[in-house]
Amino acid sequence: MTTQTFPLRAGIDMGGTGTRIMLLNGEREVASETVPSAWFATLPQALRAKALVDKICHMLPPGYSLASLGIGASGPVNNQTEIIENNDTLACFSGYPLVAQLREMLAVPVAIDNDAVVAALGEYHLGAGRGSQRMMMVTLGTGIGVALLDRGEPLRSFDGKHPEAGHIPISSDPVTCYCGLQGCWETLASRSGLQQALEKEIPNLAWDDSTLAVLSEIKAASPKVADILYQYGYTVGRGLNTLLALYGPDITLLSGSAAALLPLYQSGLDAALTRADGYAVNHHIIQSSLGDAAGASGAAILPTLRETRLHQS
Ligand SMILES: [Zn+2]
Repeated sequence: MTTQTFPLRAGIDMGGTGTRIMLLNGEREVASETVPSAWFATLPQALRAKALVDKICHMLPPGYSLASLGIGASGPVNNQTEIIENNDTLACFSGYPLVAQLREMLAVPVAIDNDAVVAALGEYHLGAGRGSQRMMMVTLGTGIGVALLDRGEPLRSFDGKHPEAGHIPISSDPVTCYCGLQGCWETLASRSGLQQALEKEIPNLAWDDSTLAVLSEIKAASPKVADILYQYGYTVGRGLNTLLALYGPDITLLSGSAAALLPLYQSGLDAALTRADGYAVNHHIIQSSLGDAAGASGAAILPTLRETRLHQS
């Protein structure tokens, strides 16, 4: 007698700080676990794929099996070789055939893409981007990730890479970003940029679920903090202005830890996006609905999306 098992889709969101593993039953999350990415760096390279496999198998509830695995990895991913090429913030998973190893160990379909792309796919299929024609998603976290989906299809550069559109020049600020640009949007408008500016005024500000409420009170009492938040919104808006003018999305989703603070810097953002009549850009900008889970959810549905596209072509 054979025992029937129910298939679950696994998604992994690999960030510079945390690696989130999620299991989906249909479109419903049944398990999620986050491991510090630095933990994998303590293991020999040959054991890192095995460590991921062990984590996934440990999370599978009794009576369930694995149907597929998708990965969203921070920074450049080579879509031809499926190898992560991010020695800056994801060195522990970069430069070796991780996907091939996982495919062999798990014997299920495995797919990989950039983390901004999979997060956008998550929102487009399961979240706030459903039904959009041209969706832009901007993640304001440790860095800035940008993804554009044209009817669900990610925009790529000529060589198949994901455009690193968080790295665009927006100011005459002399600080040089690790990408080589001076006045780079990511340096100034990422959550890290805001954090640096705020820490001069509020040294012990915690970044968690309470930040919006705490910062809202401080903003009301401190014109200096209010100005930092206004300037932050303005800086976010300067980069968005370029991207909105070029891409013309019908909806823009903000995600990442600075997205939750949008009400505190909305006025600066609006000021930066104000244009003359006739040149106004569509700036329907809202917060993402899946939040931190967008990346792992999008990763989990990636193999299914790839298979569907294969059948359509
Ligand atoms: Zn840069």
